[in-house]
Amino acid sequence: MLGIKVWRRLLGVCDRTVIERIEFDEDADAVVASVRPRRAKKQRCGRCGRRAPGYDQGEGRRRWRSLDLGEVRSFVEADAPRVNCPEHGPTVIEVPWARHGAGHTRAFDGTVAWLATHTSKTAITELLRIAWATVGAIVARVVDEARAEVDPFDALVRIGIDEISYKRGHRYLTVVVDHDSGRLVWAAKGRDKKTLEGFFDALGGQRCAQVRLVSCDAAEWVGDVVRARCPNATVCLDAFHLVKWVTDALDEVRRDTWNEARRNGMRTHARDLKGARYALWKNPEDLTARQQAKLAWVAKVNQRLYRAYLLKEQFRQIIAVKGVRAILMLEEWLDWAARCRIPAFVELGRRIRKNLAGVEASLLNNLSNALVESTNTKLRVLTRVAYGFKEPEHLIALALLDRGGYCPPLPGRSAA
Ligand SMILES: [Zn+2]
Repeated sequence: MLGIKVWRRLLGVCDRTVIERIEFDEDADAVVASVRPRRAKKQRCGRCGRRAPGYDQGEGRRRWRSLDLGEVRSFVEADAPRVNCPEHGPTVIEVPWARHGAGHTRAFDGTVAWLATHTSKTAITELLRIAWATVGAIVARVVDEARAEVDPFDALVRIGIDEISYKRGHRYLTVVVDHDSGRLVWAAKGRDKKTLEGFFDALGGQRCAQVRLVSCDAAEWVGDVVRARCPNATVCLDAFHLVKWVTDALDEVRRDTWNEARRNGMRTHARDLKGARYALWKNPEDLTARQQAKLAWVAKVNQRLYRAYLLKEQFRQIIAVKGVRAILMLEEWLDWAARCRIPAFVELGRRIRKNLAGVEASLLNNLSNALVESTNTKLRVLTRVAYGFKEPEHLIALALLDRGGYCPPLPGRSAA
C-alpha cells in the first residue's frame, strides 16, 4: 500500500488536504480520492478567504479534475458546503486543492498554464483531454491570482502603449509594455480614450507621476490622455512604428511602379519588380547575393524606386544613430523627402513634421526598438493562438501569462 504522503504528491495536493479514501470509479474510468480540508470546522469564504459562519451544504459533493496518474484520469472529491460571508453572502468554502469556482485542482491549473506558454494548442487539448475554451478559463484564473499577489504596476517609468488587433482584425486590444523589463503590464479590449484611461485609473495618481516616458504610435488621442494623466512624462513615437511608416511608403512606391509597368504592357519588367519586394524591404546587411543583384537592377532601371529605397535606408540610419546627431540627420532627410517628387514620401515627410516633437523625443530617449518589436510580434502570434477562446479576457490572460512573466512553474518543481 502506498502511504498518504505519496498519494498527496501523486494527486498534487498540499498537506492542508486530508485524504480519506482512494477508489477506482469504474463508470468514470478514473481514480477518485475523497478528501477534506484540514481543520474543516474553521471554514473560510472561497472568494476572500475570511472566516465565516456555515450556511448550508451547497450542492453536495463535488469533483475536481486532477493530474492524470499514468494513463488514468484522477479526481479529488469532497463536500462543498457554503459559508455566509459578511461581504460575499452565501459562498462555497475555500479549499486548499483548488481555486475558487474551478473544476480542476491547482496542480492541474498550473500544468495547463505552463503548457499554454510552452507548447501548441493541439498538444495541450489532446494531452490533457480538455477543450481549448477550458484552457482560456484556467489561464485567466491563474493570472488573476498571480496579479492579485503582486503590484503589477511596480516601478513603471518608461512605458509603451500600442494596439493589437484580434478576431481577424475586427477587434482591438490596447496594451501597455514596460520598456525596462520588456514585460506586458496591462491590456484591455478597445482602442479609445476611455480604455486607456482605465489603465491610468488602475495606476493611480502617484504612480502616474513617476512615469517619465511614454512611447506610442501617432494616434493623437493616446498623446492627449497621456499628457492629461502623466504630468512628468514625455510622449514619443516609438521607432518600431516609425520604421513601419517608412517601409509602408516604400512599398506603396513599389506597387505604383509595378502597376504602371503592367499598364504599359511591360510584363517582364512588372514581374521582375514584384520579385524585388524583399530586396527593397530587407536591411542591406541581410541581403542574399541574388537580392543584392536585384537591388542593383532596380538602381539601374528605375531611379525613382531606387530613390525611395535610399530614403528608407537613410531613415533607418537615423533611427540607428539616435541622439542629437540623428536629429540633425532627420532635418536633412525631411528636406530631401519634401523635394523628392515621390508622392508617398512627400506625404510621409509631412506626417513626420506634424509629429516632429514625438519623433525627436524618440531619437533622444534610447528606447530599445527590438524589445517593442519582439513583444509586438509575439502578441500577434498569441491573438491567433487564442482564436477560439470565448472571452477577450482569456486572450488578455494568455498574453499576460506569456509576456507578463506570470507563468507558474510546473507542479512539484520550485520556481526557477
Ligand atoms: Zn468573502
